[in-house]
Amino acid sequence: MAPMNQWIKIKAPATVANMVCGFDILGFAVNSPYDEMEMRMVPYVENGPKIIIINIDQYNLPTDPEKNVAGAALNALLLEYEEQFSNTTIAFEVKINKLIKPGSGVGSSAASSAGAVVGANYLLGKPFTNDDLVRFAMNGEKVASGVKHADNIAPCIFGGVTLVRSIFPLEIIALPSPELHVTIVHPQIEVKTSDARSILKHQVLLKDAIKQWGNIAGLVAGLMKKDYDLIGRSLEDVIIEPVRSILIPGFDALKIACKKAGALGGGISGSGPSIFMLSKEKETALAVEAEMIKLYTGLGLAHHTYVTTINEKGVEVIN
Ligand code: ADP
Repeated sequence: MAPMNQWIKIKAPATVANMVCGFDILGFAVNSPYDEMEMRMVPYVENGPKIIIINIDQYNLPTDPEKNVAGAALNALLLEYEEQFSNTTIAFEVKINKLIKPGSGVGSSAASSAGAVVGANYLLGKPFTNDDLVRFAMNGEKVASGVKHADNIAPCIFGGVTLVRSIFPLEIIALPSPELHVTIVHPQIEVKTSDARSILKHQVLLKDAIKQWGNIAGLVAGLMKKDYDLIGRSLEDVIIEPVRSILIPGFDALKIACKKAGALGGGISGSGPSIFMLSKEKETALAVEAEMIKLYTGLGLAHHTYVTTINEKGVEVIN
């Protein structure tokens, strides 16, 4: 266990959930952007708070531990720690410097939840497994979107590409990460995760389901075999994307332009509005970025872009 009051630094990466065809089950972590956090254990003072959150960014996120996803995730961890390992109570102080814009669709909430529980586990001497940490961090996702889902949390904690085969009971499978370049554009419009979920249809046609599970299987096989063209062909979503893409201006034109520039494929990142594309070469990823900038500049929409790679480490504790 780390000494009381010793600060640690944490790097929590952004993540791309769904990976086009794997709604709620697939996701991967990227090397940029990432959130920075600092954390320490302090002795619990009777009737005092067990979690103190200090925001050191401009986003004005809640500091109430019930409302900040990091607090909700830490509460779940502390509850189990006190039950299983200790009668003494400890408290955590967490400083969050958010570099991943909340609501952009690249796992800003997951980075805080995952970063907080990985940091706490390190400070406590690692009593919990990665699967436990995912379970705790999902309580943060419930605060952010109303639903416990692990498609951002799992890659944020494990790194690389992950498959959430089941949530109850939790089963996460780390898949081989392809050496691919990732281009992300975040058009500055607001798409609430709750809205992006509520417009989805609750029933699917069998013919669409067949296409979708063919693509998911193709994508997983492509990752296992390092077959990049198979990965590209499998990046197709016939169920969620046709509905959600109407919330993102220029989506169809952007996808066509990026593929023409050489991208293997891509689509909506999480519930949007960010869009990601995968490319074999860095030059292609940069050409894809140029297409993204051209399209959103043409539409007069403010936007950010990132050209990055898949992050294999997940949340990192730096001392
Ligand atoms: P994202 O995909 O960027 O995580 P979400 O819409 O799923 O976007 O989550 C963002 C929501 O979670 C916002 O309403 C934000 O106020 C809330 N939230 C609470 N705490 C945090 C936090 N520490 N980091 C990011 N978002 C947070």
